[in-house]
Amino acid sequence: SIPLSFFSAIGAVSKRGVLVKGANYIEKLTEIENIIFDKTGTLTHGVFEVTKIKSFGLKEDELLKYAAFAESFSTHPIAKSIEKAYGKEIDFKAVKSHEEFSGLGVKANIDSKDILVGNERLLEKFKIEIKEQIKENLNVIYVAVDYEFAGFIVVSDIIKVEAKEVIKNLKELEVSKVYMLTGDKKEVALDVAKNLGIDEVKYELLPQDKLTNFEEIKKQTNAVTAFVGDGINDAPTLANSDVGFAMGGVGSDLAVKSADVVVLNDNLSAISDAIKIARKTKRIVY
Ligand code: ADP
Ligand code: MG
Repeated sequence: SIPLSFFSAIGAVSKRGVLVKGANYIEKLTEIENIIFDKTGTLTHGVFEVTKIKSFGLKEDELLKYAAFAESFSTHPIAKSIEKAYGKEIDFKAVKSHEEFSGLGVKANIDSKDILVGNERLLEKFKIEIKEQIKENLNVIYVAVDYEFAGFIVVSDIIKVEAKEVIKNLKELEVSKVYMLTGDKKEVALDVAKNLGIDEVKYELLPQDKLTNFEEIKKQTNAVTAFVGDGINDAPTLANSDVGFAMGGVGSDLAVKSADVVVLNDNLSAISDAIKIARKTKRIVY
C-alpha cells in the first residue's frame, strides 16, 4: 500500500506548480538515475527569432515572403518566427500546395514556384546544393526556389535561465547522468550541452528517433530513466519512460496526457524541487 505521506507530498509539490498523476510516482521520483531532456521548448523557450537573412538573387524581402507563405500552414515554432519576421498578412490562396517533412522543414507551391524551407537534410533530400554553408552553432534554415538554392534565414532560441542550475542540482541529488536529445544540428546541440553541463547528447534526430534513443539508453544503463519533453513528438517517449515530465505551460496536449508529472509553469526548477520533496518524504516514511 502507498504511505499516506506520499499523498501529502503530492500536495507539497503541487504548491510548486508540479502536478503528479498518482502517489506511486512520488516513490518513482526518488529512484531516478538517468534524466533525459528534449532541447527545444524544454531546455530552451522554443520561441525563435529571425536574426539574419541572406538572399542569393531574390530581394531579401521576397525571399522572406516566399518562406513565410510556405511556412504558413506549419505550426512549428520556427515557422511561426519566420511568419512573424515577415510581419504582413499571408495570402493563403497563393499557396497552391503545402507539405511538411517532420524534422526537416516544408515544401509549398507559390506563384507556380516550388519553395523549400528547412534544414540541410531537407535540401539534401531534394539534392539541392547549398551554396553557402554555415558551420557555426546557429540554426540555419535554407530556402530553395524551384530546386535552386536561394538563401538562408538564421533563427535563434534562448536557453531558459534556470536550466544550468537545475542540471547542477540534479547531479547533487545523485541523478547519475543527464542526457539531451534533439533534432537540431550538431554544432547547436554540442554548444547547448557544453553550456549546461549535460553529460551526453544525441543530435540531428528525427522525431521517431527519440523513443529509440531513449530505449537504447535505458537498455545500456539498466537504470530508472526519466524523460522531460514538451512536444507532440515527445509523447511516445513520455508514455514509455519510467517517469515522464511534460512542460505543461507551453507543451502540447498530447505531451501533457502522456506524462506522469506535469510542470505547470514551464520552469525547470520544479523538476529538481519535486525530486527533493519526494526524497525527503521517503526518508521520513522509511
Ligand atoms: P527538436 O527535436 O529540437 O524539438 P524538431 O524535430 O521539431 O526539433 O526540428 C528539428 C529541425 O528540423 C529544426 O531545428 C529545423 O532545422 C527543422 N525543421 C523542422 N520543422 C521545420 C519547419 N517547419 N521549418 C523549417 N525548419 C524546420
Ligand atoms: Mg521540444
